[in-house]
Amino acid sequence: MLLYIHVPFCRRKCRYCAFHSLEMGTASTVRDYVETLLRELALWGDRMGGVPVTSIFFGGGTPSLLPARTIGTILDRVGKAFAVQPGAEISMEANPESLTRPSELRTLLKAGVNRLSMGVQCLDDAMLHTLGRPHRAREALDAFRAVRAAGFQNVGMDLIWGLPGQTLRQWMQQLKEVVRLRPDHLSCYGLTLEPGTPLEDDCATGRLGLPPERAQAAMFMDGAELLETEGYIHYEISNFARMGFQCRHNLGYWEGEDYLGLGPSAASTLGGLRWNNPEDHAAWTRQVDEGRVGTEAERLTPQTRVLELIMLRLRTARGLRVKAYRELTGRDFLRDHKRLVHLLHREGLLRIRDGYLRLTRSGMLVSNSILERLFEDTETLMALPVDTSATPLAKAGKAVAPDAGQIDSQTGGQIGDQTGGHAAENVAENVTGQDNPADATSAAAPPSSPPDPPAGRSHG
Ligand code: SF4
Repeated sequence: MLLYIHVPFCRRKCRYCAFHSLEMGTASTVRDYVETLLRELALWGDRMGGVPVTSIFFGGGTPSLLPARTIGTILDRVGKAFAVQPGAEISMEANPESLTRPSELRTLLKAGVNRLSMGVQCLDDAMLHTLGRPHRAREALDAFRAVRAAGFQNVGMDLIWGLPGQTLRQWMQQLKEVVRLRPDHLSCYGLTLEPGTPLEDDCATGRLGLPPERAQAAMFMDGAELLETEGYIHYEISNFARMGFQCRHNLGYWEGEDYLGLGPSAASTLGGLRWNNPEDHAAWTRQVDEGRVGTEAERLTPQTRVLELIMLRLRTARGLRVKAYRELTGRDFLRDHKRLVHLLHREGLLRIRDGYLRLTRSGMLVSNSILERLFEDTETLMALPVDTSATPLAKAGKAVAPDAGQIDSQTGGQIGDQTGGHAAENVAENVTGQDNPADATSAAAPPSSPPDPPAGRSHG
């Protein structure tokens, strides 16, 4: 099982952020949060009885705002509640300005945190200011050196491309500067203008302007190519890692492993059941104290399970195992989607090898369009009788009505192009009727997966 711990505090709210986060409150607010979290941990430990945990991820918010010794206390309690496996990945999201004290960094390391994911976002002070980030570029570079000096051997950086006023040249220069530091992992997300955020308002009213869509697509294409040339494996639409440094937590999530989320707003999926903790701290605390947390779960519908299988697996370089689709549905993916698969294959957007179907980089460029079409076709097919009674879906019952409105917000779709952008353009047009690959792409979508990823977003 994967364990996700949501730490909701931030120094201040970034201007593009729609995540659940609060400005760092008083000491008593933080103490109350930690005490409730520990009670929630104990509750799940009692319920689940020492279940093996292969990965722990502190996300937020800005988990690095918590004192290192508090992280140590939480990890101790995790160890008492669950069977944390030897070599478990223990990740923490961190903002550069909270990574300045060597003694704190050493305490974190000693507590067991073995992977840091730094929210750098960009290396331009004016843009950082526009984003409302609480740090400067210099601090990010200094913090990276500090965490290396403290002994962290697995350090990643989050970056955002497609920022207001950003040019392709600026983005590439920034990537080169970052690569010189040799981080072990890089997450590169396209900026998402979240409704209701100040940044969205600035863009809607014309005070700020995003780069042209074709420039945004080029940022990802050229950026991905540069990173691969520099030895980073492009293992998921928005993620790159040196050999052996893929984020095991997120890989587990994309592979459909169970995850338990603790803390306000955290999502969980266990044994086919899914629930979200309340965002409101008082409501979350009440649920924990009354032993009700996680009791209002929904069983995933057969339809959701198939759509998530397709969406999550096609995000990864490994791709979708055709057999997994058959096991879940009793149907043959290649037969079900014959025409589309043929078209995508012919245009170099999709490859099939060793029983796996994966998008090429060009395919990832237009992944939103491809997934949208696959979702529509799958929803139609799911309404037809399943041809075996032995599949999990048949056992789970009849498919329910589709909820196509979730599709775009859940997919990324920004990436480089190894086989020629024109093929992507043509297929985007064929699939969706659009004539612009960037239109067919959610050039502004950090990967946010249903209902909310345990980790791996463009923030903290
Ligand atoms: S983007 Fe990250 S650091 Fe900024 S407010 Fe949101 S959660 Fe906090």
